[in-house]
Amino acid sequence: MKLIYTLVILTLLLGCNNPKDINLKIENLPEKTIDAQRELVSVLTGNNRLNSDHVINSRTTPKERLLTRHYLSEVFNQLNLNTIEHYYRQPNANFLIDLLVSPFKGTNFYTVIPSTTNSKDYIILGAHYDTARNCPGANDNASAMALLYGVSKKLLNVPLRQKNVMIVFFDQEEEELIGSKAFAKYLKKNDYEVHSVHTFDQIGWDKDLDKAVEIELAPKEIEDIYKAKAKALQISIHTTKVNSTDHQSFRDLGYNALGITEEFANGDTTPFKDTPNDTFDTVDFDFLESSTKLVFEVVHHLITQN
Ligand SMILES: [Zn+2]
Repeated sequence: MKLIYTLVILTLLLGCNNPKDINLKIENLPEKTIDAQRELVSVLTGNNRLNSDHVINSRTTPKERLLTRHYLSEVFNQLNLNTIEHYYRQPNANFLIDLLVSPFKGTNFYTVIPSTTNSKDYIILGAHYDTARNCPGANDNASAMALLYGVSKKLLNVPLRQKNVMIVFFDQEEEELIGSKAFAKYLKKNDYEVHSVHTFDQIGWDKDLDKAVEIELAPKEIEDIYKAKAKALQISIHTTKVNSTDHQSFRDLGYNALGITEEFANGDTTPFKDTPNDTFDTVDFDFLESSTKLVFEVVHHLITQN
């Protein structure tokens, strides 16, 4: 019993997770999208401080992930978009860990750019926000979070939107896709009508400067739209069957899902993944900008066609 009390008190002491204790004030992001994206990656990787009280050096511990969620919520608030948190508990593959420590628990969060026509259909765009321990995670995966911010900003300027677009940030991708698995279940449980799920993981490395993008396991009709929009922007698309990231969680539950990334299978990918060297200055912002444009064009097509 004593042990249980000690554990409870330790949890309370180490938690310090009350948002009211946290100074969340942030400066307004720059008006120009690419400058705002640069700022986002910079703050998410500790290259810039979040504010006078906080710096996010990596996004692994509960405190770091809490700060990340609150920072991004503030950022989306600046676009007049509210974020909603989705808490989950997911059993561990090894039941002993559940028994002795606690079931995995985490927090995804999302926002919705609503349809202007009362549509019930959703396009889901997602990226994980966690990192491996003590890694700044600039390419993996601040780059994709910045892409989603840029796409959101552009979508808000589309006057007629015939589908909703949900932007979601997954917790615990680095721990066997726990967050996205929980989110796929959440969509199912709440009967969301999902047109397609596009997940983004590492979109900031382009050493050969060809702007090429890899799409993973896309359903044919969506692959064709990516290819057509890429062609118009003179971007080449490589299709692969990589399934080791968040989109697999949705495919497992029967959703139309695909992944978008830098040239992972072709080898034009960051050598710094999951290391302390995955830093702000390794991100190619021209590539991030062209990829943002491509994704916006695809989603624009999807929400303006019936
Ligand atoms: Zn990743």
